[in-house]
Parts: sequence; C-alpha cells; structure tokens
Amino acid sequence: MACIFCRIVSGEIPTNIIYEDEFVCAFRDISPVAPVHVVLISKDHLERIDTPGVEKIAGHVILAISKLAATLGLSEDGFRVVNNAGKYGGQMVNHLHFHLLGGRHLEWPPG
Ligand code: AMP
Ligand code: ZN
Repeated sequence: MACIFCRIVSGEIPTNIIYEDEFVCAFRDISPVAPVHVVLISKDHLERIDTPGVEKIAGHVILAISKLAATLGLSEDGFRVVNNAGKYGGQMVNHLHFHLLGGRHLEWPPG
C-alpha cells in the first residue's frame, strides 16, 4: 500500500492518534508550522475535498475539528483549518486531510 496516510490508518506506520471516530482520525503533523498543527484525515482513501464520497464524512470532519480545537485549547484564541487540493493548492499527500493550526496569530493572505 503506497499511500502514507493509508499506512497510518492501517497501523503500518506507528502514529500517535489523538482523535478517532468511525470515519476520520487525527495526529500531530510531522513538520509543524504552528505551535499546534494537527492533521485530520479520512480513514478511507479519498483523494481530495472534491472527490465523490466526501459528502458522507463532511459532518464528521467538522465535528472532529470542533472537538480537537476544544481539547487542544484553541477555542478561545481561535484557529485555522486548511485543506490543500491539487497542484496549485499545495497538496503533497493525495489522501484527503485537513490541517488544524493554532497557538499563534496566523497571517492572511497565505503565500
Ligand atoms: P499537504 O501539503 O496538505 O498534502 O500536507 C501533508 C502534511 O502531512 C504535511 O504537513 C506533512 O508534514 C504531513 N505529514 C506527512 N507525513 C506525515 C507523517 N508520517 N506523520 C505526520 N504528518 C505527516
Ligand atoms: Zn490513502
């Protein structure tokens, strides 16, 4: 199985999973760009946010982000959720995922 995030879901790559439900799981980004940088991924291999089937887990994604933000202490100061899609979006791993960023003031617009 080539996809690195599928290998995390299967347990082939040992990873500290900090949130999990039936459809998604989350872990700390290996190269954090903020004091809090979590990657939330689909358990199924869906390529990106506009892949058919994503609508089935969209609610779980939002619920998971809310729970993670609260658990990680981001609710008061706020946070950012990023989804990179495709070449121009800067997507490096072609398995649906969302970045949850917080713990510092994040600039806008992004580069
Ligand atoms: P993207 O550019 O949106 O595809 O982001 C992929 C993210 O996955 C990057 O921020 C990577 O640092 C992160 N990443 C890749 N492999 C791992 C891993 N084994 N554990 C944690 N994060 C990872
Ligand atoms: Zn995958």
